[in-house]
Formats: sequence, C-alpha cells, structure tokens
Amino acid sequence: MRRILTIIALIQMVLISSSSGQTKPAIYLSGYTFSAKKHDVGVLKTTADVKIKSVSLSGADGAAFKIGKGNILSLRSTTVKPDLKWLDVDITANTSAGELKASYRIVNDLFIHNKVVAHRGAWKNTGASENSIASLQHAIDMGCEGSEFDVHLSSDSVLYVNHDDIIQGLTIEKTPADQLSALKLSNGEALPTLKDYLNTGMQQNRTKLVLEIKASVISPERGIALTRKVMAMVRDMKAEAWVDYISFDYEICKEVLRIAPYAQVAYLKSDKAPAELAADHLTGLDYHFSIMKKNEAWFKEARQNKLSINVWTVNEEPLMDWLLSEQVDYITTNEPELLLKKIKK
Ligand code: MG
Repeated sequence: MRRILTIIALIQMVLISSSSGQTKPAIYLSGYTFSAKKHDVGVLKTTADVKIKSVSLSGADGAAFKIGKGNILSLRSTTVKPDLKWLDVDITANTSAGELKASYRIVNDLFIHNKVVAHRGAWKNTGASENSIASLQHAIDMGCEGSEFDVHLSSDSVLYVNHDDIIQGLTIEKTPADQLSALKLSNGEALPTLKDYLNTGMQQNRTKLVLEIKASVISPERGIALTRKVMAMVRDMKAEAWVDYISFDYEICKEVLRIAPYAQVAYLKSDKAPAELAADHLTGLDYHFSIMKKNEAWFKEARQNKLSINVWTVNEEPLMDWLLSEQVDYITTNEPELLLKKIKK
C-alpha cells in the first residue's frame, strides 16, 4: 500500500511539475551572435542545476566554432565576411542529467543601433496595415533598429500577430486558426501567424524583432500558455538572435526569463520602479512617455540598474528631442521616418 501511495505521489509530482512548466533540463547560450570584432558567441549553460561534463559541436557549420574554457562558444576563424548572415551549429552536452542537444543559428551581428523602434511595424506613412508582414518589411527596408508587433493565441493554440484582442468582430483567443487565417487585413494580406512573421524577420540581420506577448483576456494561465508557445516557436525556429520580448503582464515577463534566462525582456505597464524590475532580472523598462515625464528620476535609476530604456509611443518631435537628450536606448514610434531623419542629423 505504501509503495502504491509513493508511486501516486511521484506521478502527482511529475504532473504538477509539467503543468507548472518545470520541464526537463535544457541547454542554452548566453548570446547568439558574433561579429568581425566579437568572436565569442556566449557561454553554454543549463536551465537546471545540472553540471556540463563535456561538449561536442557538429552540424552544417559546426567546424566554424570551438568550445573553450568555461564552456564559451567562439568562432575559430578571425575573419568574418560582411555578407555572411549566420552559421548553424549543433551542440551536444554530456551532463550530469545525461545527454542534452540543441541546434542554434548564430547570427553575424550587423544589427542597427539607431534607437528607432517601429511601433506595429512601419505602417502609418507606408499604407501597410499595422502588424502586417508588409509593415515589418517596411521597417526593415528603412533601417529601423527594431520592429514591434503583438502576439495572441487562437482557441486552438496557434500564434497570431495582431494588436487588438478582437479582429473583425472575432475574439482571437476564442476563435480557431482556420477562421483566423481566412481573415484579410486592410492591405489584402492574410492575418499573419507568428511563424510567418518570424520567417520574414529572419531573412535579414539588421533589424531586431520586438515581440510583445499579450495578456490573455480569458485567464492568467492562458497568458502563460501563450508565453510557452512563443518561446517554443522561437526555439524551434532558432530565432533567439533576433527576438527581444516585451509585455504589460509582469508574470509573462518573468516566465520568459524562466524559460530563456539569456533573453532581453522589458516591462510595459509603467507601474514599477526600475530597481524592482532589475531585482527580478528583467533587462529593460519600456514605459509610456507621460509616466517617464512624471518620474524623471527613473532614467537615472534605470541606468544605475543596467536596464535598457525604451519609451512609447512617441510621435511628436519635442518628445523625441527630450528623449534623445535623456539618451534613452530606444524610442517606439508610429513615425519611424521622422525619427530616423532626426537621428541621421
Ligand atoms: Mg504592442
């Protein structure tokens, strides 16, 4: 009887841990890029308290890398051609929890640093619909540092890109994928899936993808389920080098970091002091300009806590000038053309 109870208790533990997302240990890198100047890619780590004993590299471009002291993955060659976009490496780690494997796309870091984040893509002056693939492509073509977009989960767990919870009268979370994929945006495009969106963004290595994970309108648990789906897709598509994360939902921000401790994650809701975000290991704040106006000390506090500073949604020139004088890291705007012109001056 005691043995049966023990077995039942063990089964319960497994069920609880899988439902809380405490999946088996995995490997990850602390970084996913290299450049002509930076040959070290990142440190190979594990998500659980697991010791790495040895590491081997294989895959299409496995021979281009080496693994050194402290499990640092780095490029073997010191010459990087500017037209090289990325290299693919498979890593096998022999660990105290057995063999752990993963394939990664390691990207030549030609990402732009001009602070300009196109809010829902570049749509306002281009005629593209918000959050359309075309709006992303315009943001890439005009050379924005980042292009922002919003992600929801359909009733049958497919990831879609749209701003509002409701599109053409349908609540995305309560609608299945076959109905959602039949919808057309105002520019004639089908409602994009996250997969299509990432596929477009990953054709290039200059503009980052700023992925907003939307809070669920149904339940906090569904927001966490959405987060796990997003993270699994980024992992499957090897999109780590491209994607930064933002959310209004603090639990979602923390869940991203639990799954991907290397990730850049910024909080949007503008109701927490920078020190609190840093204490929870978030990497940035992404606050409304009116809140930053009221809390100007937060610029300094954010920098002291090594948080990146992004401010939304900044469409007026005087606001842009003020934030540039505060030396923020990013400005999220519906007017990327205007801000790009200002930055170039
Ligand atoms: Mg958004």
